[in-house]
Amino acid sequence: MIIILIGAPACGKGTQAELLKEKYALRHISTGDLLRAEISKNTPLGEDIAKLINNGNLVPDDMILGLLNNALKMKGKGIVLDGFPRTLTQAKLLRGIVKDQGEKIRAVVNFTLAEEEVVQRIIYRRQCRHCGNIFSVRFVKNFDGHCPKCDSTDIYQRADDTETSARHRLEIYKKETEPVKEFFKEKTYYMQTDGNRPVQEIFKDISSFIERK
Ligand code: ADP
Repeated sequence: MIIILIGAPACGKGTQAELLKEKYALRHISTGDLLRAEISKNTPLGEDIAKLINNGNLVPDDMILGLLNNALKMKGKGIVLDGFPRTLTQAKLLRGIVKDQGEKIRAVVNFTLAEEEVVQRIIYRRQCRHCGNIFSVRFVKNFDGHCPKCDSTDIYQRADDTETSARHRLEIYKKETEPVKEFFKEKTYYMQTDGNRPVQEIFKDISSFIERK
């Protein structure tokens, strides 16, 4: 089973990917996470990636493909793709890979979210280094630097989560990723979901679509 999640930055793809991974025993492949892992290795490649990401630009298709090469070997286990494909070239390449492996796409889920909500989510997004919790300081009453889940003070903000980068990422999203939506739109496995709803409501929507007859 292959599930593809597309949508603007911070629309909730990562959160839903984790829930889907648990429910359907899938591998969660996040290109953003793969890229950040490369950055943390402090390699020359990682440095190039950091410059691109931190300014809100996309990483070139061949670099992404290089990183994904192994991850995309399905080996019978299903996958949930989060952050890929992000360009039309990537979408076409993925279609080829899926076909070559005799696999099938079960769902392409497109999350909708108003632009101002995207920006708000990005600039208030924080992550806890201790437990990995990703949360919005918008919804933590009297936020005092403690993780609402585990109380650790080891909280950070992603380097690309600034307002300037957020607005730039939205522009790139419209130019590069909207065509991916158009590419899949007419397929029977395409669905759209309103990303501005409670996590569990969205999850229920996606799950019933996946389990459709
Ligand atoms: P978000 O959903 O908030 O944009 P991600 O973690 O998915 O965050 O991605 C972070 C950044 O990594 C993107 O802004 C982009 O620079 C880069 N990136 C992730 N996936 C891709 C991809 N498939 N192609 C090109 N660049 C990518």
